[in-house]
Amino acid sequence: MNAVFTCSVDDGHPADLKTATLLDKHGLAATFYIPINNREGSPVMGAKQLRQLGKGFEIGSHTRDHRYLKNISARDAYDQVMDGKKALEDMLGHGVSGFCYPGGKFSRRDEKLVEACGFGYARTTANLCFSKGKAAYRMPTTVQFFPHEASAYLRGYVETGGWHARQDGLRIALQHQDWTDRLFAMFDHACEHGGVFHLWMHSEEIDELGLWKQLDGFFAYVSARLEDGASLTNLQLSQLG
Ligand SMILES: [Zn+2]
Repeated sequence: MNAVFTCSVDDGHPADLKTATLLDKHGLAATFYIPINNREGSPVMGAKQLRQLGKGFEIGSHTRDHRYLKNISARDAYDQVMDGKKALEDMLGHGVSGFCYPGGKFSRRDEKLVEACGFGYARTTANLCFSKGKAAYRMPTTVQFFPHEASAYLRGYVETGGWHARQDGLRIALQHQDWTDRLFAMFDHACEHGGVFHLWMHSEEIDELGLWKQLDGFFAYVSARLEDGASLTNLQLSQLG
């Protein structure tokens, strides 16, 4: 059985260009989720950089201002989702069909809103999954490229639900104390069972924590084990039968 690999990079920090260079080096596809501004203060790439990035990768939307949708009014949520899409499309000169919920915070209302605004799918921050999920507007992930403690996975498992689909992921997460061992073991699990391995990250964190070498090494490992054509953008994954 063959694994499918996809990668999400959130928030549009200029360090995304470095992540893109590494993905490109290893022939891996990815989707970059971009807000127009980041209300949390981090810089976001401008039109020229986004157009450059868009030549090699899928660009998805991440609201206008990186607002968490769950607890804002319907009107504000609509503005965030629709304005973010339009501004990004204007910069790129083409349509954008992928969306990612900032902070992974959303409600059923927001799923419907994202669909009504013309997006084809939406990614969440639900982790420990080895599939594309059952709902187009709730695409889960497998693991974040971040040195979490094992306890963070246990907490997230309990809070997020969908336990049956995530129990293998939790078991693997708890088996490994070292976060990179955990990452490799999860990818190996996807390869052994023909599952989806969905890696996600923030380039700004990779930069701050000095993890570029580890990321390069992990991409090399993934690339060597994947079959031809098994690396997809989030959009391509969402369209798999
Ligand atoms: Zn974000």
